[in-house]
Amino acid sequence: MLIDRYGRRITNLRIAITNRCNLRCIYCHHEGVDFRDFNEEMSVREIERISKAFFDLGIKKIKITGGEPLLRKDIVEIINSMPPFKEISITTNGTLLAKLADELKEVGLSRVNISLDTLNEHKYRWITRNGDVKKVIDGVEAAYNADLTPIKLNVVVLNGVNNDEIDKMLEFVSKYNKHGVKVILQVIELLKLPGLEDYYFDISEIEKKYAAIAKDVFVRVMHRRKQYVVDEGIIEFVKPLDNTEFCANCNRIRVTPDGKIKPCLLRNDNLVDAKGLKDDELVKAIKKAVLLREPYFRS
Ligand code: SAM
Repeated sequence: MLIDRYGRRITNLRIAITNRCNLRCIYCHHEGVDFRDFNEEMSVREIERISKAFFDLGIKKIKITGGEPLLRKDIVEIINSMPPFKEISITTNGTLLAKLADELKEVGLSRVNISLDTLNEHKYRWITRNGDVKKVIDGVEAAYNADLTPIKLNVVVLNGVNNDEIDKMLEFVSKYNKHGVKVILQVIELLKLPGLEDYYFDISEIEKKYAAIAKDVFVRVMHRRKQYVVDEGIIEFVKPLDNTEFCANCNRIRVTPDGKIKPCLLRNDNLVDAKGLKDDELVKAIKKAVLLREPYFRS
């Protein structure tokens, strides 16, 4: 069991396997790493070894992210090489999912998060700078049919762009939930990077509206996030900004595409090298990174 100096249990690993992406979303934080730096990517064997070391130390869930993880030609092999985590999930833009969903399910992928900020073709092309929303919708359909569920649809709210579209998105997810919870709408507050201030939208306004009409509310352990049940739609809100609870309840640790352990999304000055280490050194590196964890936002 991995526990940091603040008594926070680390149960989730988020491993970025590439910085490459086939979209250029206007707001992207690139998981806190420089997206131009993509010369080095871990091999399947390195990903397998690092994942297994975390698994042996008690990590229960792994999320594979990027860049766009489905751009890796060996993505099926990567999933297939993973130890038996309770949950293996991927965060993807969904554009390449339609042709991969069945194969990924077969080798052990549990579920997917799909980024989809709008259902409008023109807005989608504008936000992503070149994406085709139809490919993403086909990806959602394929993930649903392959039972990569519950699918989470990640919507980053951008003021004046998609803040008026949440009802429509909720209607879209509802049609998949006639026979149980298969698709959840995850409304994400924009992390205000320099230059994005005009797009910032306080999602509490949206949350209040759904809280008032929800027939059920669940509070998740993870960051105390609330899920509201509105007819067949389920909607969850993620607020990372200035949120001391976000840090107080953080149970995640990250690995960068070039094999560095990253104790905090918002810092790059305390990375710990994990690549090419012998097994015992790898365990030491993980424990060192855990001890370097500290809340970024404090009360
Ligand atoms: N390519 C994959 C995708 O599109 O989901 C994975 C990488 S992407 C960086 C991971 C998640 O970060 C996406 O759900 C995206 O919406 C979110 N994200 C990126 N930049 C953000 C920002 N400035 N504020 C809030 N969320 C952001």
